[in-house]
Amino acid sequence: MASEIYYRTVADLGGMLARREISSEELVCALLARKEAVDGRVKAFNSLDAESALTEARASDARRAAGQARGPLDGIPIGMKDVIAVTGQPLTASSRMLANFISPYDATVTVRLRAAGAIPWGRLNLDEFAMGSSTENSATQTTLNPWDLSRVPGGSSGGSAAALAAGAAVATLGSDTGGSIRQPAAFCGLVGLKPTYGLVSRYGLVAFASSLDQIGPFARTVEDAAIVLRAIAGHDVHDSTSFRAEVPDYRAELPQRRGPWRLGIPKEYFGAGLDPEVAAAVAKAVAYYQGLGCTIKEVSLPHTEYGVGAYYIIATAECSSNLARFDGIRYGHRAKSATDAVDLYFRSRAEGFGPEVKRRIILGTYVLSSGYYDAFYLRAQKVRTLIRQDFLNAFHEVDAILTPTAPTPAFRVGEKAANPLAMYLCDVYTIGVNLAGLPGISVPCGFTSGGLPVGLQLIGQPFQEAELLAIARAYESGHEWHTRRPAL
Ligand code: GLN
Repeated sequence: MASEIYYRTVADLGGMLARREISSEELVCALLARKEAVDGRVKAFNSLDAESALTEARASDARRAAGQARGPLDGIPIGMKDVIAVTGQPLTASSRMLANFISPYDATVTVRLRAAGAIPWGRLNLDEFAMGSSTENSATQTTLNPWDLSRVPGGSSGGSAAALAAGAAVATLGSDTGGSIRQPAAFCGLVGLKPTYGLVSRYGLVAFASSLDQIGPFARTVEDAAIVLRAIAGHDVHDSTSFRAEVPDYRAELPQRRGPWRLGIPKEYFGAGLDPEVAAAVAKAVAYYQGLGCTIKEVSLPHTEYGVGAYYIIATAECSSNLARFDGIRYGHRAKSATDAVDLYFRSRAEGFGPEVKRRIILGTYVLSSGYYDAFYLRAQKVRTLIRQDFLNAFHEVDAILTPTAPTPAFRVGEKAANPLAMYLCDVYTIGVNLAGLPGISVPCGFTSGGLPVGLQLIGQPFQEAELLAIARAYESGHEWHTRRPAL
């Protein structure tokens, strides 16, 4: 187990801060030094405001000295995907469109993290507007996987995953529309949680596909994910999809929920395209749960094969609508030499958006257009209902569903960049969860012979995050994968 400060868990560091073995300022300095040492190679940060992080660390230390520490996150830096608003900080979505945009306000998750004493930490790279699975669609830079710098960290929240895996953060936030937290967590050997749709406010999140987007944590352990989730979850009047529910103390509930659980294995998730080493690691995890006394049951999610198709219709339709606001007039990139207003729209959008974003806007506009709406968009919505029903049917028989997170381990930079369809197929096991609005978590479950992390996905029932975290933790407690660190 690595003993360096920057490789410790939130839970450990919270204890060290409480016992005054370290100050928040010292922690921030250690992370700054680590970021300097590794980010030239990993390229996870679009930017980092060291001054404001240090100022907030000193404020946390002062609170603690005055006996007013706010709990387990006080003084802990939390990395922010560069689509989550932080007042006075750049908010680029890794797009030329927002290259010079400074956020005038805090997202609700930022407000809540601050209320818990946490410190917003850096602006972490992503695929432009969160569209992609590798960060290669970023207009800023391609982030590299700390376990193997010739490979991608996954995406779209690749910067949030790579910064954490490299020790340049202690926990981070990402957003997940079709897998963007869970897949990079799997590729980088981390825990990544996509909460139930409606549990975490998206106010202040740059919208991609609003019926699918959720914000969630990346962490080194299930316990850390529980701590961060507690801080950011809960009803918000600024997001009309946010659910009115009590947020449990997920961390305190972990030891209280002991199973044994009934776990479903969907047969449709173990077919063609699944890497044999990933399949073997997941099979071992199944056997482990069986050894814990869990009941393992084969279940069927019969509409799985239509998931990718339905997702890429619904997500592109919603993105074509959400991204209409970037017109070069109100804010965002504005073209220099336009002849009239319409020409200004054309030029600003042509210059501001990258190729994948344009592809999706065009696709989304097409599937919504009259004459094609019924054939594509409406049918995709019906498929979505069937997919949700598949999951709810399975939950009559099981408490959670167990699958691989991604069909392969991290692939090489450039391997899929020229083939959008191959890239879209990375999401086969994760998008159903978004279409159905369910919570999903990825936990490290092994390494390939080449030393690449493998992720296990657990899918829970709506708003049953406490149970899902406990199931994940039961696996984690019996393994040491999550304690390994890359040799950077
Ligand atoms: N890879 C998927 C896509 O490209 C998911 C992205 C996400 O979850 N933001 O749409």
